[in-house]
Amino acid sequence: MIYFDNAATTKPYEAALKAFNNTALSTFGNSSSLHKFGLKSELEIQDAEKNILKRLSHDCSFPKEGKLIFTSGATESNNMAIRGVAELMHRKGKKIITTKTEHASVSNVMDSLISQGFDILKVNPYDNNVEQQIADLTDKDTILISAIAVNNETGFKIDTKKLFSLVKEKNKDTIIHIDAVQAFCKLPVYGDLISISAHKIHGIKGVGGLFIQKGIKLPPLILGGEHQNGLRAGTLPTELITAFSSAACEYPYDNSHIVSLRKYFEEKISEFDNIVINSKNSIPDIINFSILNIKSEIMLHYLEQHNIFVSGGSACSKGRRSNTLLGCGLPNKAIDSALRVSFSHQNTFEEIDQFFKILSKGIERFSKLKVKG
Ligand code: PMP
Repeated sequence: MIYFDNAATTKPYEAALKAFNNTALSTFGNSSSLHKFGLKSELEIQDAEKNILKRLSHDCSFPKEGKLIFTSGATESNNMAIRGVAELMHRKGKKIITTKTEHASVSNVMDSLISQGFDILKVNPYDNNVEQQIADLTDKDTILISAIAVNNETGFKIDTKKLFSLVKEKNKDTIIHIDAVQAFCKLPVYGDLISISAHKIHGIKGVGGLFIQKGIKLPPLILGGEHQNGLRAGTLPTELITAFSSAACEYPYDNSHIVSLRKYFEEKISEFDNIVINSKNSIPDIINFSILNIKSEIMLHYLEQHNIFVSGGSACSKGRRSNTLLGCGLPNKAIDSALRVSFSHQNTFEEIDQFFKILSKGIERFSKLKVKG
């Protein structure tokens, strides 16, 4: 199997599975229990929080002094961050700035806030200098900025350090939320609230986190017991959390292998006349391209028959034309034929060779079927 869909999810590390198993078998106590077996579980969670925050702080000059709240994944983290700030700050202002190319777990929450009287401004990151655009729009009524650090469909990255300092210069009270799902372990991330997810870094599905900078008193999204200082009720999945921590520790700091894979991939693509690369200013891990006369689904399923797994645009925007690719200014023809290859450091050059061998046969076979629109 050739798995080139690592932006959708990643294969759990052996070490993460081992951590899960060890915890499940030997530290399965409820971290809220008062006995020492519960405390053991609580200590494992504290240790995991420290490891993950350490990884999140890597290469950042701005200290991450707050807490990491464990959630069921970044969808929940994004909901908690945005709804939380709206509830916390609605008396101070109603203006929120975001981008046109957010993941659905941000954009749908933003749309739901419109009916509550919030003024949601959306900038297009593909227009120049998105960080400055957002800062220019920030004023005394702006309570929240929410921006995706690395786009899941194209790999487009924003400079969160620059965004953070430009926005804080305009209004130090504006809270900055960053959806860092595709950036965590890959780029330094600056923000007051930061969403991350375990299954994108070779952890296990079902756990994520929201970093909350010290001093921000976010209200809970989920009510119940006093878990996580009352910020997120529910018994903590110690097993998933230790696996998340193990993945965060295991994920390589050096991305030179992925950089080389990307370079090699682009060299191979340049041999084809009818393939255009849609990704620009992207992390090396994600490349979006269009085979201009072949619909995404056709090529995706053809590759699948050869045990090669890629994505058509984004796994989360099935069936709809992607806002991200529309935002890039791509014509419908390119959008409808877009494929996303997303690497892990576990991928190899041989897999790329095999991919292009099969791809060129597919192109030969399907190039007579024209894309509509
Ligand atoms: N944001 C981005 C940028 C993502 O890629 C994803 C996962 N597709 C999410 C949020 C949601 O993450 P989760 O699957 O952990 O809910």
